[in-house]
Amino acid sequence: MKKRIVIAIDGPSSAGKGTVAKIVAQKLGFSYLDTGAMYRCVALTLKNNEVDINDDTKISEILNNTKIRLSSDNNKSLKVELNGKDVSKEIRTPEISRLSSDIATKISVRSFLTKLQREFAQNSNVVAEGRDMGTQVFPDAYVKFFIDASVEVRTNRRYLQLQQAGIKTDIENLRKDIQNRDYQDKNREIAPLHPAINAVIIDTTNLEIDQVVDIILKRTKGVFD
Ligand code: C5P
Repeated sequence: MKKRIVIAIDGPSSAGKGTVAKIVAQKLGFSYLDTGAMYRCVALTLKNNEVDINDDTKISEILNNTKIRLSSDNNKSLKVELNGKDVSKEIRTPEISRLSSDIATKISVRSFLTKLQREFAQNSNVVAEGRDMGTQVFPDAYVKFFIDASVEVRTNRRYLQLQQAGIKTDIENLRKDIQNRDYQDKNREIAPLHPAINAVIIDTTNLEIDQVVDIILKRTKGVFD
């Protein structure tokens, strides 16, 4: 089988990974893999089934019956389906953000999603975005990036995104949520968030999206050689 190319982009929440990854994928003709959306789907299905997140047997049972499908429609926005239902908007609420970080500490959830993510990358070249792309899921990625920004800037970006999506939120609570998620994602036992040893670190605090895209494309030059 032909070896597929993976570009790995990791970083904390709301650093701009998603926006940038989507544009880079379009420019290179790669698929876009939003692994955060997968964690969000698992959070949503566990919530809908009222599963206690400490009940590992029940979690495994639910995961065995969970189908997640990510696809891009014509205007390139991401469609997320959970067991055949479009949950693209439902998974973006602050409650699901919190819960996804909680369930992302579970080995059963991480193994299930890591397998799905690797399968996804078998079918096409991908720009994969998340917390552990370069460190765990795709250690042999063609090139790895770690995108960061100040908490202030990330909170403002996320606030705007949620407003545009019609999801009401309080900016102070949002800031706290982001800080809590950062802490939990960086300090969990399994696959904690940190840059891969060979990652290119980009601080986007004072950068526009186009500038970040340019940096990534320059570093990815030669991908088709
Ligand atoms: O990227 P996003 O904010 O949508 O991710 C939601 C949560 O899913 C993160 O806070 C993190 O806990 C978890 N996640 C993860 N590993 C990934 C992607 C997301 O642990 N590769």
